[in-house]
Amino acid sequence: MTQIIKGKVKTVFTTSEPDKVLIQYEDRVTAGNGKKIDFPQGKGRVCMEISAFLFQLMEEHGIKTHYLDTFPERIMSCKSVDIIPIEVVVRNVAAGSIVRQTTLEEGQIINWPLVEFYLKDDEKDDPLLTEDRIKLMGYGDEIPALQHHAREINAILKGVFRKIGLTLVDFKLEFGYDVDKNLLLADELSPDGMRLWKEGTKESFDKDLFRKGKGDIVEAYNIILDKLSNES
Ligand code: C5P
Repeated sequence: MTQIIKGKVKTVFTTSEPDKVLIQYEDRVTAGNGKKIDFPQGKGRVCMEISAFLFQLMEEHGIKTHYLDTFPERIMSCKSVDIIPIEVVVRNVAAGSIVRQTTLEEGQIINWPLVEFYLKDDEKDDPLLTEDRIKLMGYGDEIPALQHHAREINAILKGVFRKIGLTLVDFKLEFGYDVDKNLLLADELSPDGMRLWKEGTKESFDKDLFRKGKGDIVEAYNIILDKLSNES
């Protein structure tokens, strides 16, 4: 097994099959592009379990993902993909950077969910992209498919979280192409890349607990995992 990419919270290993990788979810959490870091026990496992649950839910709804299976030691097997270096963010409610960068106020409902694109490049601090810049980067043809998938995924996620009493405020997605050039939802689907508020409040059940030093993310993520598992 060869390690190919050591990310901030996941490590990717190649396998003997070129179209398959193993992704190990680490007991690690970072914020502010790696400036704040901690190593909470059990965090890798709960993020992997939630991701596996949500990837399978996507597949049930006809959304193709890189997910294949899970194994002990926080390992998920996935189809190998060429990641598109664009982070797709969907916003249903204003929070985080959109509040810092615009006149929107935290908690303001965004009736037609916003689909935004950011450059996937930590060294450049993941800047917001324009469609013209995406075209210059050579990914113009991908824009409609990314927007379409992001909206579909948003509808499914909003529904499942509503059932367990949580409002899906915003989230980030990554996509890639498999060896057969299929566009797949990749990376992870966990509260590390989402904002989830207890319905009717702004109480966070996501990485904002760590960003703001307001609570235990492993405890919050495990509540989500239990509720998701009991709902299905
Ligand atoms: O920081 P911002 O408010 O733009 O984040 C929007 C959503 O995307 C949040 O749910 C955040 O957790 C997620 N995100 C992410 N990874 C990034 C940037 C944003 O998971 N690099």
